[in-house]
Amino acid sequence: MFQDSQDMRTNLSELGEFGLIDHLTKGFEPKLSSTVKAIGDDAAVLNFENKHTVVTTDLLVEGVHFDLAYMPLKHLGYKAVMVNASDVYAMNAKATQITVSIAASNRFPVEALEELYSGIELAAKLYNIDVVGGDTTSSTSGLLISITALGIADKEDIVYRSGAKPNDLLVVTGDLGAAYMGLQILEREKEVFKANPNAQPDLDPYTYLIERQLKPEARKDIAPLLKELGVKPTSMIDISDGLSSEIIHLCKNSQVGANLYEEKIPLDPAVISVCEEFDIDSTTIALSGGEDYELLFTISQEDYDKIKANPNLTVIGHMAEEKEGMHLITRANQKLPLIARGWNSMEDKNEKSEKKE
Ligand code: ADP
Ligand code: MG
Repeated sequence: MFQDSQDMRTNLSELGEFGLIDHLTKGFEPKLSSTVKAIGDDAAVLNFENKHTVVTTDLLVEGVHFDLAYMPLKHLGYKAVMVNASDVYAMNAKATQITVSIAASNRFPVEALEELYSGIELAAKLYNIDVVGGDTTSSTSGLLISITALGIADKEDIVYRSGAKPNDLLVVTGDLGAAYMGLQILEREKEVFKANPNAQPDLDPYTYLIERQLKPEARKDIAPLLKELGVKPTSMIDISDGLSSEIIHLCKNSQVGANLYEEKIPLDPAVISVCEEFDIDSTTIALSGGEDYELLFTISQEDYDKIKANPNLTVIGHMAEEKEGMHLITRANQKLPLIARGWNSMEDKNEKSEKKE
């Protein structure tokens, strides 16, 4: 896990805007041949030759999307890059460049922004992404980070949300629900800490869950894996809001229905045991939890043999005719309508607060 080191306090005004930009971005040397000019001019210059370009932006606002009480700034920087890279990977594209814009109030010393940037730098390095620009300004309340990510793909490789056909298999990468349960653990510990600042929590059993919340990894590996397997998904989306809402997006965009099998949903054993501890249903968490940053995609039935042995990929259901609707088939073989936040019969049990977009 990352460590925070905020004992020093240099006021933002001591460096001034340009000094601050220079200071924060000094480690960002571009590495990709497509980056012609990175930071330092009025605009970055990129050359993608004959590739298609994908562009995506996310805005993260303190108090809405993150809570600095348990989110170290270095993790926040890392996660902000992952959230964007994940959207590029969901197009079956390769993430290449990002721009990073921040607004910070004077509550944040230079050292805090250094922490944030060290997380951005680490993510950019590990994911082979160049930081090619951004904007820096002040805010009257808290911290905002907006990242724009660019990526490239051959035209014929790009996968949209709209290409799923009835009978296509529904496939998910990795496992689901861990990031949400990590957040539950962190929120619980925050309350315990407020009540007794000397309490020493034993978070060891929750390491995986907390890492999935604080240090998510976007699925950079999936586009090359699918290429190697000779599979082009018919539709794809990343799982930022929870499995059920993403299935609904694919269905609506592709004008198809879907059947999802509860018993097939991949869960880490740590999620199963923490759900027992919190007395909540693990399927509900996988369906509505969010922030897993896994990929959800559909493939033609003919491609099943190519993916079936891969431990990263789980077939969780199949698409259907639009008129058949979208359903969860439970372990007890009940067929329940899927809704954006779980499924119908769980509506009143689902106490999750209104989600942010
Ligand atoms: P302008 O006045 O044209 O907006 P700036 O002085 O804001 O230019 O930015 C100077 C350079 O530094 C530009 O290349 C810009 O993209 C980059 N930059 C500014 N802020 C950031 C930031 N927070 N992170 C990365 N690059 C930044
Ligand atoms: Mg500017």
